[in-house]
Amino acid sequence: MSKAIQSEKATKKKQQRIRCPICGWQPDGKPYWACEKCLTTFDTFKTHAHCPTCDNSWHYTQCIACHKQSPHDKWYEN
Ligand SMILES: [Zn+2]
Ligand SMILES: [Zn+2]
Repeated sequence: MSKAIQSEKATKKKQQRIRCPICGWQPDGKPYWACEKCLTTFDTFKTHAHCPTCDNSWHYTQCIACHKQSPHDKWYEN
């Protein structure tokens, strides 16, 4: 078990996985999220929960699969 973790760390040190902390859904790079201020649709993980058009930002990110909101930082696996 510990051997597997070690080798994974060595090979993908920089690659951070993104997934829903509740159901495990992984975003596929599509613009699922919409800004309620300017109605721009975007991929919130490309901009780290910031609207690319206006200054809006979010602490919580809603999952497209289970519709639950989780803190944006929790989506990043470390
Ligand atoms: Zn989910
Ligand atoms: Zn906006």
